[in-house]
Amino acid sequence: SVQIVWLRRDLRLADQPAFHAAAQAGPVVPVYVLDDDRAGDHAYGGASRVWLHHSLDSLARSLGAHRSRIVLRRGDAPQVLAALADEVGAACIHAMRHYEPWWKEAEDELRDALGDDCKLCLYDGNYLLPPGSVTTGSGSPYKIYTPFSKAMLDVMPPRDPLPEPDTIHSPDSWPDSPDLQDWQLLPAKPDWAGGITDFWDFGETAAHDRLDWWANEVADYDEGRNLPSQDITSRLSPHLHWGEISPAQVWYKLKDKRSDGWRTFAKELIWRDYAQNVIDQFPDYPRESYRDYDERKLWRNPDAGHLIDEDLECWQKGMTGYPIVDAGMRQLWQTGWMHNRVRMIAASFLVKHLLIDWRCGEQWFWDCLVDADYGNNGVNWQWISGTGVDSNMFVRIMAPLTQSEKFNSADYIREYVLELGDLSDDCIHDPPDEKRGDYPSKMIGHKEARERALEAYRAAK
Ligand code: FAD
Repeated sequence: SVQIVWLRRDLRLADQPAFHAAAQAGPVVPVYVLDDDRAGDHAYGGASRVWLHHSLDSLARSLGAHRSRIVLRRGDAPQVLAALADEVGAACIHAMRHYEPWWKEAEDELRDALGDDCKLCLYDGNYLLPPGSVTTGSGSPYKIYTPFSKAMLDVMPPRDPLPEPDTIHSPDSWPDSPDLQDWQLLPAKPDWAGGITDFWDFGETAAHDRLDWWANEVADYDEGRNLPSQDITSRLSPHLHWGEISPAQVWYKLKDKRSDGWRTFAKELIWRDYAQNVIDQFPDYPRESYRDYDERKLWRNPDAGHLIDEDLECWQKGMTGYPIVDAGMRQLWQTGWMHNRVRMIAASFLVKHLLIDWRCGEQWFWDCLVDADYGNNGVNWQWISGTGVDSNMFVRIMAPLTQSEKFNSADYIREYVLELGDLSDDCIHDPPDEKRGDYPSKMIGHKEARERALEAYRAAK
């Protein structure tokens, strides 16, 4: 009998337990449902839609090699899937479990919507371990990263990755499906996504090529991961986010490296699991703060009105006058990705130098990142702002100019802030006025911003 595989952020064939089980059970109908309403303010942003288009295209080609396809449907996922199950006479819908609150709800609704002839089977495998697997001594889920990470390392490695199914049988007839182009996930004119398509290769094969490259570089990660000018991070984040590769595959490919670099990298992969544990416990985490004071009092938004809009726009466009912040924001706009060290500096700048609510930054990143991830984005913004369950870091105010120099960001700035392309290493981090040309002066001095932020914090407490 026919088996449906419901695809979401798990766009791969190898180590995809839902696909694996379906392929063993009968002819397979893979389906992707574009459900734009369910996630509300976290519907896919522009950059995510570009990635999704290319990733679906790539998966459809891989399935073509098995004489299989992806059926595309649009609408409310549980209803669409229940109708498709009726249409093809499916015995089971197989799906990877997802932890965003709207997907957890959709899974429950789908179970209720299916008749007696079709069941829903959910599988884990997009994370090293399912959220909630490691618990504190008293049996509760962890809230804080460091003990969570220690507990995870104690139970690693993850299970062995599964191979790609040898054979994927097709149904006798295929349900109708529109052409992927008809979904218009790519921008029309102007084509702002050119930088994204130049910067990335999409899909499962590209993810494994990237991992092969990374296996030779990971030893240098411990030293190199903070240097934005150098290519010493894996850039696997969009591939992991879209499930083009699984964390277990990454772990097994690298685990024999046994370098300090690998150990540090493993802890970053664990951050990804940590973020899912957080949103599993606190579904509104990317929207709500979890401090015992009214953190909204920190932000200038309520009384500064249009000034905030202008300040926010300067930050979004990379025109703050702080070269490292601007290089990061322009890298984000052009490529859909930003180096982690610079994400921290740019996020801290918005929240502490400009005193703008972190939710504005979270939403901009959500729209612009190709790896925009409900858990990772929300957890990192709250971590920087000191408003979440993990840290209370508001008073740790990063100094952008010192950070820029300390982590040798000159080449990175030259690459993205073209107005400063001719400046030497010794002045590019903080150019004197006469060397700025068309580049703006600083929106606010660091010392003044720091004092203002600390004062706001005292007042909010
Ligand atoms: P590597 O350094 O090679 O790390 C390997 C993998 O570990 C990454 O691909 C990612 O899956 C995971 N990882 C690394 N750091 C973190 C972290 N701090 N938190 C969670 N997982 C991590 N990451 C996202 O995937 N999506 C987001 O939406 C996102 N938003 C962020 C917002 C802010 C304000 C900050 C400070 C960080 C954010 N990050 C996010 C985390 C991190 O910046 C990116 O995962 C990383 O830069 C991706 O590059 P990479 O693949 O080369 O990472």
